[in-house]
Amino acid sequence: MTITIGELTARPGEKVTGFLKPVQWYDGSYCKVPIAIVNGAKDGPTLWIQCASHGNEYQGMAATQRLIKETNPADLSGALILVPVLNIIAFNAQLRSSPVDGLDFNRNYPGAPPEKVMHILGHTEAIIHAMVQEIRAHADAMIDTHDAGPLGDDTEIFYCTSPDEEVTRRTRAMAFATGNPAIREITLSNPEDRAKYPGMLGAVINHIPNITIEIGGGCSINEGYAAEMHREYTNVIKHLGILPGEPQIDREQTFMNSTAMVRPRHGGILRMRIKVHQRVVKGEVLGEITDFFGNVVEELKSPIDGMIYAFRNAAVVATGQWCVSLGGVGPKPKF
Ligand SMILES: [Zn+2]
Repeated sequence: MTITIGELTARPGEKVTGFLKPVQWYDGSYCKVPIAIVNGAKDGPTLWIQCASHGNEYQGMAATQRLIKETNPADLSGALILVPVLNIIAFNAQLRSSPVDGLDFNRNYPGAPPEKVMHILGHTEAIIHAMVQEIRAHADAMIDTHDAGPLGDDTEIFYCTSPDEEVTRRTRAMAFATGNPAIREITLSNPEDRAKYPGMLGAVINHIPNITIEIGGGCSINEGYAAEMHREYTNVIKHLGILPGEPQIDREQTFMNSTAMVRPRHGGILRMRIKVHQRVVKGEVLGEITDFFGNVVEELKSPIDGMIYAFRNAAVVATGQWCVSLGGVGPKPKF
């Protein structure tokens, strides 16, 4: 089946690369979003993988570059649509969000067409809308990749359950097929969760199986993180039958069905005492904040019994800023 996205067309057995042009700038130039279509010689499902909707999260991009270079369309039954950097405006500023409108790409799904953009400088909404139309038109499944950016470290899969039970079942299967050791499920029938995740990809694009892979952080290309991301992509591609073979799952997988975060009341110098995937108990001290003179102004304590899947490893923190993410561990669901 021939795939056409914007000005790009990939016939069966072809790999093409180019740019989508979802919005135009003051000077008439276009915001250009890089995209690759690897269209298999044989028919099958289409997997959409997108990276850097937060412009300073680079590990997914590094793994996607490898997928673009190494994947031979002759080997595929189905197609890969690969977006190495989605939020190109934030990417060019080395920031999480676009410096022009400040909007968080992953809190504004499904975006809005240009005539209905809500924020006064809301080009991010228009880009999101344009990309969502392509996802809806082409994707049978999708992966959104993130990492902890300049602030920290994380490794997990998360996804939102869908009102459609079959979509939820397939999403869970895809999440576990990654081989990632930490799988976190968000159920949006819970009113608290609905308030917590408005405008997130998984909460909005819930008609197709989609997962978020979070691996690593730091703002350099970390080949270890990129290799892990690539391995998890490949596992999903095999799980969907786009490549032959079985996913490699060789680590214990912990299922988390609730989420908690630690945000301090005080600001200061931050020292964390934890690792990703460490199990902790409620009340356990995870780190401390000191003033300039070395006095402890706050101990950060775990609000739940659970597993840490991400934490801030920056030197400083201000009141209310994110420090630790934890999941409550539950029994593995059926899928
Ligand atoms: Zn992110």
